[in-house]
Amino acid sequence: MYRAPRGTSDILPQEQAYWRYIDKKIVDLCQLYGYERIDAPAFEDTGLFLRTVGEETDIVEKQMYTFKDRGGNKLTLRPEGTAPVCRAYLEHGLHNLPQPVKLYYIASIFRYERPQAGRYRQHYQFGYEAIGDDDPALDAEVIDMAWQFFLSLNLHHLSLQLNSTGCKKCRPRYLTELKDYYSDHTQELCSDCRARLKRNPLRLLDCKKPSCQQLANSAPKSIDYLCPQCDEHFNRLKRYLSLLDLPFAVNPRLVRGLDYYTRTVFEVQPEAEGAQSALGGGGRYDDLIEELGGKPTPALGFAAGIERIILNLKQQGVPIPPLPQPQVFIAYIGDQARDGAVKLASALRRAGIGVSEAISGKSLKAQLRQANSLGARYTVIIGEQEVTNNTVILRDMTTAQQKTIPLPQLERELQ
Ligand code: AMP
Repeated sequence: MYRAPRGTSDILPQEQAYWRYIDKKIVDLCQLYGYERIDAPAFEDTGLFLRTVGEETDIVEKQMYTFKDRGGNKLTLRPEGTAPVCRAYLEHGLHNLPQPVKLYYIASIFRYERPQAGRYRQHYQFGYEAIGDDDPALDAEVIDMAWQFFLSLNLHHLSLQLNSTGCKKCRPRYLTELKDYYSDHTQELCSDCRARLKRNPLRLLDCKKPSCQQLANSAPKSIDYLCPQCDEHFNRLKRYLSLLDLPFAVNPRLVRGLDYYTRTVFEVQPEAEGAQSALGGGGRYDDLIEELGGKPTPALGFAAGIERIILNLKQQGVPIPPLPQPQVFIAYIGDQARDGAVKLASALRRAGIGVSEAISGKSLKAQLRQANSLGARYTVIIGEQEVTNNTVILRDMTTAQQKTIPLPQLERELQ
C-alpha cells in the first residue's frame, strides 16, 4: 500500500472547514489592507533561493528539494514565499507602479525537515509583501495586519515579539561583538552552534538547547549596535505600534531563519508554556530586490503557517462554521421510483438547488439516516404511489413532519 510521503498529509473533507474558514479571513483581511493576490510557480531556479535565503541557513544547507529536470535545468521547490514574489515584482516591472506594491499569496512550501507536530515537509503559508517603501509606518501597518489576522481568526493568548537587526552598515560591527562574546564560551555551545559560530553567528541566538539559550540571554543585543538611521527607524516603529495599541514586546534574541532580513523582525507566538513554535513571522528585507538585480528597493513582509494555525484553533477550541451542504436529499422506494428520483435530482440541481440522493436501493430507514448524517434540511420521498399520482412526500428533517405535494410544485416549495 502506498502512503503519503513522510512529512506530508492529505487534507480530508472533515478538515476542509478549517481551511475555508482561514481562506475567507485572509481574503477579507487583504481587502481591508489593500493587498492583491499573486500566485508564483511551485518551483524556481535554484539560484533564486541560494542568492536570497542565504547559503549559510538551514533552509539552503539542509532543507531544499532541488532537482534537475529533463532539460538539465536546476530547479527547487519553493522553500519560502518571499523570493518568488520579489522575482515576479522585477520580472513584470511592478516597480513602475505607485509604491508600495502590496501582494499576498497562499502557497505550498517545501522543506526537508524532521517531521513533528506543526513541522512538515510540505506545508502551506499565507504571506504578504509590501514592496517599495522604507517608512516605519509601513512596518507598523504590516505588523498590525498580522496581529489583526490572528484576532479575526478568534485566536487568543498570543504574544507579539519585535526586534531590529540593523542594516548592512551597522550589522558587521554587531556580528563581530557577537563572535567575540561566543568565542569565550565555545565549550558551552552545542556542536551545531560551534559550527555556526564562524559562518552565521546570528543563528546562535535562537538555538533551542538550554545551555545555548542561557548564553544567548547574556549575549550582546543588536539594538545596542544600531546606526543612527536604524535606531531612529526602530524608535519610530515602536511609537507607531504604541499608537495602534499593539501589545508588542522587544525580544533582543529574536532573529529569523533567513539571511535577507534587515532592521525590523517580528514574530507572533502562542503564549502557552513550552510553545516555541511561531505561528508567523516577518520583517524587512531592504537589500533583497537589489540582490536580485533591481534598483535599491526597501520592502517587508510576513508569513504564517496554515497547519500551525489549525493546530492552535483546535487547541483553543475555536468554533468553526460548518461548510454548506446540499439542503435536499432524495429518497426512493422501489425500481419504478428510481427513474423519477434520478430525473428529479438533476432538475433540482439545474434550478440551483443542492441535492444529495440515495444511489442504490436501501431501506427507507437507511436512506433517512443517510439524509440526517449529510445534514439535509429536507428529504423528498418517492414511492410507487407517488409515481402513480405524480406527487412526492416532502419531509422536514428538523420537525420530522411530512406532507404530500404535486411534483410540479416541488421546486417552488423548496425555493
Ligand atoms: P518561515 O518561512 O520559516 O518564517 O515560517 C513562517 C511560518 O510558517 C512559521 O511561523 C510557521 O507557522 C510556518 N512553518 C515554517 N516551517 C514549517 C514547517 N516545516 N511545517 C509547518 N509549518 C511551518
